[in-house]
Amino acid sequence: MARSYVHEARKRVGPKRARIRPIIERLQAAHPDAQIALTSRSPLELLVAVMLSAQTTDVNVNRVTERLFAKYRRPEDYLAVPPEELERDIYATGFFRQKAKSLRGTMKMLLEEYDGEVPRRLEDLIRLPGVARKTANVVAAELGEPQGIVVDTHVRRLSQRLRLTRQEDPVKIERDLVRLVPREDWGRFPHLLIWHGRRVCIARQPLCEECTLTDLCPSSRV
Ligand code: SF4
Repeated sequence: MARSYVHEARKRVGPKRARIRPIIERLQAAHPDAQIALTSRSPLELLVAVMLSAQTTDVNVNRVTERLFAKYRRPEDYLAVPPEELERDIYATGFFRQKAKSLRGTMKMLLEEYDGEVPRRLEDLIRLPGVARKTANVVAAELGEPQGIVVDTHVRRLSQRLRLTRQEDPVKIERDLVRLVPREDWGRFPHLLIWHGRRVCIARQPLCEECTLTDLCPSSRV
């Protein structure tokens, strides 16, 4: 019974290859303001903000970085203060010891191996201490050179509900998405899903009756 329901739903919406472009276009129309919510004015600030955003809200990070970026302008500045001072300065983002350690390690590597500049290539970004694949993908995309697709909790949930993937593991979900999503959309696609996930396709109770994707979504309740 359940299987035939899923089969019917998939038949109703058609194959994902045919759905992906209209999905992107409609989400773009619904959320023209979808973009990164972290504030930064340089690649270095972007990297730091994304590193600090683990396990906390973007609003919280912006509150902390407003002061932080006035005090720490170059990679050297993060290494010039005692570790405890940096910990205090980022305390409100949570996991402050680990984050301070990652920031110091990253700044050291930037200075020693990258002339103090934030690298653009994913394989360089993921070498930086405390920079996981998701962080690296966000930074590369925001610097205008997406080399993968960011998979966070919203991207994962919506990709599954829209049946763009059947995978659970973020790396495998990303692999499915990069095969499906046109390359020129790799940067904005996660923002569209994230904003749609926050506003409409929310985790506990998706607002299908307000959704622009009902005829393209096998999980639609309307
Ligand atoms: S139709 Fe419902 S389940 Fe599908 S994307 Fe929209 S809100 Fe989410």
